[in-house]
Amino acid sequence: MSDVKKTALVTGASRGIGFVVAGKLAETGYNLAICGTRQETIDQAAEQIRGLDGVDSGVEIIARAVDVSDREQIQSFVQETAKHFGRLDVLVNNAGITRDNISMRMKAEEWDAVIDTNLTAVFNAMQAALRPMMRARGGRIINISSVVAGMGNPGQLNYCASKGGVEAMTRSLAREIGSRGITVNAVAPGFIATDMTADLGEDAHAQLTGQIPLGRLGQPEDIAAAVCFLASDAAGYITGQVLHVNGGMHM
Ligand code: NAD
Repeated sequence: MSDVKKTALVTGASRGIGFVVAGKLAETGYNLAICGTRQETIDQAAEQIRGLDGVDSGVEIIARAVDVSDREQIQSFVQETAKHFGRLDVLVNNAGITRDNISMRMKAEEWDAVIDTNLTAVFNAMQAALRPMMRARGGRIINISSVVAGMGNPGQLNYCASKGGVEAMTRSLAREIGSRGITVNAVAPGFIATDMTADLGEDAHAQLTGQIPLGRLGQPEDIAAAVCFLASDAAGYITGQVLHVNGGMHM
């Protein structure tokens, strides 16, 4: 990479997949803008990333508490990043939540929280990223979806709807801005060992791994590798795609 560092913004980077994605991008040489729900935990994440063996001391990281479900907050954070670093090369929309319930019992708040955080926030972040990316005549947008967008999952109608929407938006925006040199893709993880899946009991865990041809849950590193590939020069002719990283559980 040249001396002028590229910039990547990763939402939901205080732990789990987003944290590992941000770390790998920093190791690749990107300056980072990362956010999470709490200032203290996102500051800790930034410190940990700075301390990684593979991260050059010249890598700069800005870390902010941002509620991505708030249009003003997420759009300001994207704008601040582009202004601070003078460029925005990669946007990774990773922040996501679940509020599971069977449909008959699903509360309006459970529906709204998941749609606001997982779907509307992705649109708002992408919209704010378009100006700096168009100015630069290039950029990479990578949205984290889920295997359940394609499979469906009982008790997760809100989550499946949000991720299905993310995949549909990914294709639409890819068509809209391909001529500007900006690619838009999604990565759809299967079941990955993070806080989001930590509550699975032993039985559910065994049942789940039984459905995965590779016989294990994925690791955040498996997702980070796919994100780094889509951000790389090697992926320059790939747009509008959903890259499935799920150990074969859905084909
Ligand atoms: P996680 O719960 O471990 O981490 C979620 C991150 O998002 C945290 O940093 C949290 O602070 C942040 N976040 C949540 N709400 C936010 C908000 N309103 N504003 C800002 N940040 C917010 O989750 P994870 O397992 O690492 O999941 C990351 C992404 O991967 C999510 O989009 C999730 O839907 C997706 N995913 C995860 C799995 C899995 O099995 N873990 C599978 C498929 C898809």
